[in-house]
Amino acid sequence: MATTAVRVALRVRPLIVNNINNNKDDCSISFVKDEPQIIIGNDRSFTFDFVFPPETSQQQLYESSIIPLVDRFIEGKNVTILAYGQTGSGKTYSMGTGIDTNNQQGIIPRFAHSLFERMLDFQSKSSNNTFQIYASFLELYNEDIHDLLITTDMNYPQQENPTIREDIDGKIYWAGIKEERIYTVEDLMRCLKNGSQKRTTGSTEMNTSSSRSHAIFSIILKQQTSHHEGNIASLVENKTTLDRPSITTPQRLVSKFHFVDLAGSERLKRTNAMGDRQKEGIFINGGLLALGNVISALGEDSNNKSSKKSQHVPYRDSKLTRLLQDSLGGNSHTLMLACVSASSSDYTETLNTLKYANRARNIQNRVQINQD
Ligand code: ADP
Repeated sequence: MATTAVRVALRVRPLIVNNINNNKDDCSISFVKDEPQIIIGNDRSFTFDFVFPPETSQQQLYESSIIPLVDRFIEGKNVTILAYGQTGSGKTYSMGTGIDTNNQQGIIPRFAHSLFERMLDFQSKSSNNTFQIYASFLELYNEDIHDLLITTDMNYPQQENPTIREDIDGKIYWAGIKEERIYTVEDLMRCLKNGSQKRTTGSTEMNTSSSRSHAIFSIILKQQTSHHEGNIASLVENKTTLDRPSITTPQRLVSKFHFVDLAGSERLKRTNAMGDRQKEGIFINGGLLALGNVISALGEDSNNKSSKKSQHVPYRDSKLTRLLQDSLGGNSHTLMLACVSASSSDYTETLNTLKYANRARNIQNRVQINQD
């Protein structure tokens, strides 16, 4: 089993008109030429695996940081992308879950095209190669899980509420979640659109904002080959098989790709009118707090490799961390896409995001191919 670090890509969104008042000091971030490094304020520097300045196009981001993950996914490995940042920092724009008015396709629509291109190519190489694709779409609000692909139909009530279960080996799996069969790019995009729409409508009805919930869009890929001289990845990539072991028995692989749009990371001032007096406190999203604690515990574990005693990792503190247990410290290639604003008015939130993302880089995952 190979270990691989959680990688972090930082995307700095362009200043919006309100942010620009002809004052150069309004921008709190500067970039280091040819290095994935930024400087915030006068002298605090952070280095990530990728740094994408405001002028980076959706295509450039996709080609450099996402395509390698699509390759891993097709090889049968799990992949997770976590979009993290304050509301308005570009998480939805980058992931491509919003309505695309300017033809600026984000990650998921680009992924849909790459996946089908590669899988149809794989199938064309032999009639024995088959693949099946499924999609699921969940929303977590407080500690409730909503299935965004279920359309409420009184005649067909949902059989089981979505839950997180553990098998006898302690492996987490999600139960009672609709997995919709996907045959085309259009099917995938329809699931994404309908689910996103349901998320927005639901939050309007609850008088909240969808930026306060977490959304997890997942693609499950099941592949099967039989009687050929290479593995699925070599076929898909059209590589020669000379340097790879031959496979004589059929191979069945299952891999999952999670696209996670996390709740806005900003500290919210919450007015609590329940008591006699109005109390105002600083509210931090519970799931993100738990996620931060998991990231810290895992990071400390990797830093103390010499110590035999490993840290307790508090996955059980929230449903978000239970759902993402494999993505952090487990069996997944994981990329955190940290989105920030360069405006000096957002300095504190931007610095918080940079620190959070920096801690995630210390996490080591253990990745293997998932045979069915
Ligand atoms: P979030 O999902 O983090 O709340 P959004 O993705 O909705 O933020 O971004 C807020 C606004 O800024 C949207 O209108 C979006 O189109 C725009 N935006 C965000 N990032 C970029 C970018 N890199 N380039 C151009 N526009 C962007």
